[in-house]
Amino acid sequence: MSASISESLGLSSPESWVAAERLLANYSLALEAQIAERTQALQQSEATQAIILNAIPDLLVRYSGEGICLSLMNSGEVPLLAPVEELVGKHLSEFLPSPLAERRLHFIRQALATGKMQVHEYQFEQDGVCRYEESRIVPSGDNEVLIIVRDMTEQKQAENALKESRALYQSLTEVLPHCLYRADLEGRLIFANPAFLKTLGKSLKDCLGKTVYDFYPPSLADKYTADDLHVITTGATLHTVEAHKTPVDHEEIYVQVVKSPVYGADGQITGVQGVFWDITNLKRTQDELNTQKQFLQQVIDNMPSATFVRNCQGRLVAVNQASASMHGKQPEEMIGKVETEFNPNITSAEMERLFSINQQVISQRTTVREELTITNVFGETRWYQTIISPFISPKGEVQGIIGNCIDITERKAIEAALQAANLKLERLATLDSLTKVANRRRFDEYLQQEWQRMAREGQPLSLIMLDVDYFKIYNDFLGHQQGDVCLFTVAQALCRAVKRSADLVARYGGEEFVVVLPNTRRAGAIVVAEAIQSEIASLQIPHPNSTVSAYVTASMGIASAMPSNGGSYDELVAAADTALYQAKRRGRDRYWVRIL
Ligand code: GH3
Ligand code: MG
Ligand code: MG
Repeated sequence: MSASISESLGLSSPESWVAAERLLANYSLALEAQIAERTQALQQSEATQAIILNAIPDLLVRYSGEGICLSLMNSGEVPLLAPVEELVGKHLSEFLPSPLAERRLHFIRQALATGKMQVHEYQFEQDGVCRYEESRIVPSGDNEVLIIVRDMTEQKQAENALKESRALYQSLTEVLPHCLYRADLEGRLIFANPAFLKTLGKSLKDCLGKTVYDFYPPSLADKYTADDLHVITTGATLHTVEAHKTPVDHEEIYVQVVKSPVYGADGQITGVQGVFWDITNLKRTQDELNTQKQFLQQVIDNMPSATFVRNCQGRLVAVNQASASMHGKQPEEMIGKVETEFNPNITSAEMERLFSINQQVISQRTTVREELTITNVFGETRWYQTIISPFISPKGEVQGIIGNCIDITERKAIEAALQAANLKLERLATLDSLTKVANRRRFDEYLQQEWQRMAREGQPLSLIMLDVDYFKIYNDFLGHQQGDVCLFTVAQALCRAVKRSADLVARYGGEEFVVVLPNTRRAGAIVVAEAIQSEIASLQIPHPNSTVSAYVTASMGIASAMPSNGGSYDELVAAADTALYQAKRRGRDRYWVRIL
């Protein structure tokens, strides 16, 4: 202690000096204790501070005013740009990307110049990842700042995702032609998209907080409110199509409406959201389609012909009244069935025919017209004029067949009767009425036809011409009626004598007959002539005045030819006639042969 202090304290005597020394020692002890206490408090405070600093997720960096990194403290939450040893003592331009380094230096200077904290946010790329940080720059000495760096990457990413999602939501609701709205539990509008606002002719600001009673006539508003309440109370989604009158143009339109509940974070219903869109055109088209369908159904139902549609499996898809009546049924009893399921009487042959026509129509996409028989549920087999066409969808796929049937049973019966009558007429036209064998006309035709056929086939053709002997006398004695009977009996004998189906017996005229023998040579013709002679002989028809026999006899002229060698059938007839003349001349009851 200096003298001046002793003096100033009045310590001139040795006692007072000792006392002063004691006092001083005590004071010094107290001071040491105080210092120790303060040091401990400081140490405690530093430890607390260190704990706090370690606990905060930020990076703390001290910089000199020139931008030299003095020290840093990082709990590890902010990724460092380089290891600590490469940062401390380095200028920030050595480790920060250049635009960021310039900005940081700018804010350091700004903080030192103004004495105020500077805050800046920035982004940069590290290892190909975009990172966001916020730095707070605080002046911490004459030429020193403390920078607190916080990693904002996750927060920014979340913010960006939220922004994107909001933008997406907004762009969707804005461009959507559908009207969208949300209302709270009291029916107050809390959201409306531009499409909806357009129908109201109002801005969003004018609509928020309003209810449907502010936009629509009470009757409509009551309905909308009731629907909203239903959704809110039941939690069910509502789908309806309803007539609507637009508030701006007062247009009568149809809208499709979907209303669903809106849930809050606690899972409670907080309101209702609705989507609706104009379906007037669709509804009109549907109505028109329905009208057309009805019209078509009426036409089809009133058609007298049976009309039906089958799918590719043969099951009926549509049936008109006439088609159902064909089986004494109603259309609905036949839909979805195949023929055998409602008509047990149809025969397997009829079923196979129907099946094969259907397959042909489906596979070849062609229309088939055919006359078919169908045995119906009443057991009657009836004829149908049937037209089956492919049933093709608008996409061009064959979906089945369309059939149309007209009952032609009566026509078929008339046709059959006509055919029988024609046949009879034909036979009458070619038959000789007295002898019931072919007439002269038929003989002429047949000879010509067979001559040509034999010429083509290179086969022989023979002809026998027969004349009853002394028939004039027979008539004269027994009368014409008896003569007619005789001619009929002889004709039948001739028929018995010829055996082949191609042989033809005809009356040539008067008491003369001819026999055409295709594929027959002279020898064969002779056999036939002898058979005729024997048949007539066996008849033993008494002839009162014949000079050759007591019974009726006949003379025959035989002629054979090879038509392929040329010549004509007239020559064959002439040759047979000449041969007949020879047979007469040579005594009758015999045959004579002439070869061409
Ligand atoms: P020949 O032996 O020479 O043949 O003598 P013929 O008397 O048979 O011949 P002719 O030609 O002189 O007479 C044929 C007779 O046949 C004349 C006619 O009275 C008779 N006659 C022809 N057609 C018929 C007929 O349809 N019915 C009947 N009953 N007689 C007929
Ligand atoms: Mg004659
Ligand atoms: Mg005669």
